[in-house]
Amino acid sequence: MVGRHPTAQILAVGEGRYLIDCGEGTQLRLLEHRRRFSTLRVVFISHLHGDHFLGLFGLLSTMSMQGRQEPLLVVGPWGIEQMVTTVNLHSQMQLGYDVTFQPIDTEAHALVYEDGLVRVWSLPMRHRVPCAGYLFEEQPRRARLLKERLPAGLGAAELNQLAQGRDLPPDAATGRPAVQHADVSVPAAPPTRYAFCSDTLYQPDLAELVRGVDLLYHEATFLDELRGRAAQTFHSTARQAAELAQSAGVKQLLIGHFSSRYRQIEGHLLEARAIFPATILASEGLEVTVGDK
Ligand SMILES: [Zn+2]
Ligand SMILES: [Zn+2]
Repeated sequence: MVGRHPTAQILAVGEGRYLIDCGEGTQLRLLEHRRRFSTLRVVFISHLHGDHFLGLFGLLSTMSMQGRQEPLLVVGPWGIEQMVTTVNLHSQMQLGYDVTFQPIDTEAHALVYEDGLVRVWSLPMRHRVPCAGYLFEEQPRRARLLKERLPAGLGAAELNQLAQGRDLPPDAATGRPAVQHADVSVPAAPPTRYAFCSDTLYQPDLAELVRGVDLLYHEATFLDELRGRAAQTFHSTARQAAELAQSAGVKQLLIGHFSSRYRQIEGHLLEARAIFPATILASEGLEVTVGDK
């Protein structure tokens, strides 16, 4: 959900829910769009400009008032812990659950989080304050077994072994020959990947880090006629976002973070689509399905 409201996106992977940035009013928007946030596992913050994190305080305290007990991890640039701790101290807010902060190096491309569903890498952004994007990748899926190719009479333990990608040795007792995993399965589809590129100066080199992703979110604060202004303020234009999408060979581009100077944002879409046709506009409440799930 990005658009004229400050940035916030919910990423859903299986049962996992992850929040990416938390601009002012995020919890209100989530309620409005009927998105549950009680099950959030992790909040990823790109940088400490208000339009990307000011909603965090309200969200944390609302979750506490709703009775949340599960711990929450907040990943972001150094300083976020200090901000939250200070606000909680002076408002005498005691959260009913533990919040752990994980500061990241915003200049590095490094693995910053992993659970059973996703792996997340930081993407270095170039902005006026330390800023990171995030690359989300589903955990590798398993190859699918082809029932019609499986020899008859396999036991549960043997099937389990094959499901985990291992070969079966020959079975002397029954005379069954060895079963090669590759002969009875189809390889898993490559994991779905989503790259979130927050506020940044146009960086053509970023293409290497987001190559071939299923969906690229990239900021497009200005139209290209204000390319100079974009560079001065460490932002990008719609054309630049599209150029990055094209050179990185991504499947789909989502642009957002439009300057409030534009009353209409169709110009951004036209400008980007002229370079990269598979572009969509990030708007309030938009839901995008990525990959084949
Ligand atoms: Zn910013
Ligand atoms: Zn911003």
